[in-house]
Formats: sequence, structure tokens, C-alpha cells
Amino acid sequence: MRNWIVRFMEGRHGVDHYSRFLSIAACVLLVLSLLLDVVLLWYLALFLLLYSYFRMFSRNTAKRQAENRKYLTVSYAVTSKFRSKKQRLQQKKNYRFFPCPGCKAVMRVPKGKGKIEITCPKCGEKFVRKS
Ligand SMILES: [Zn+2]
Repeated sequence: MRNWIVRFMEGRHGVDHYSRFLSIAACVLLVLSLLLDVVLLWYLALFLLLYSYFRMFSRNTAKRQAENRKYLTVSYAVTSKFRSKKQRLQQKKNYRFFPCPGCKAVMRVPKGKGKIEITCPKCGEKFVRKS
């Protein structure tokens, strides 16, 4: 039985981050479709599940790797945004954050230093804020 599976999966793409995400999303949609009693969600979940299996069993590994790379780029962009927000919340007690009026880059300044002149390291713009 195990040899059969190994032989069957030879040359196929297998599981990657994107197909794992699709499977989890399908499970979440399945639960939501049961809770909310919406048939459309069930079909969407079924589609996602079939698509994730199609990706796992696909022999076109180059295309599947490109899709996975695209997914990883997008997921990194989304999670890094949340990560930076979380870091800012954790540092809120000791630092203040100011966006640069020139380039909108956010700068971190220690709290309680009075009125200070801040120089943007990105564009060199100077502005005064109370820290
Ligand atoms: Zn700037």
C-alpha cells in the first residue's frame, strides 16, 4: 500500500504552503456553510478542496511552484503588515510614532523627551514634534 502511494506521487507536486492554505480555507468554509446554512459556501469549499488536490497531484511542478511563490509573497505582505502593527502596539509605552510629512515613512521616537526635531532617515526631511 505504501509503495503504491510512493509510486503514485512520483513526479507530482505534493503538498506546499499554498495547497495547505487552500485545504484549511476549505475546512473553514465547510464549517461556516454548516453554521450559516449557506449552500454557496459549501460549493466554494468543495472547489477549494478539489483545487488543492489538483495542485498536489499535478505533474506540472514548475507552474505549481510559481503559484506557491506568488502565494508566499502575498501572504508575507499581509502578515508583515499585521506584525509591524503588533510591534508598534507593544512599543507604544516607550515610543511615539510619527509619519514623515515628506515620504510618509513612519519613525519611532523615544517618549518623554519634550519637543524634538526629527530628521527622516529616508528622505532627509526635518520636522518638529512633541515626543
Ligand atoms: Zn521622509
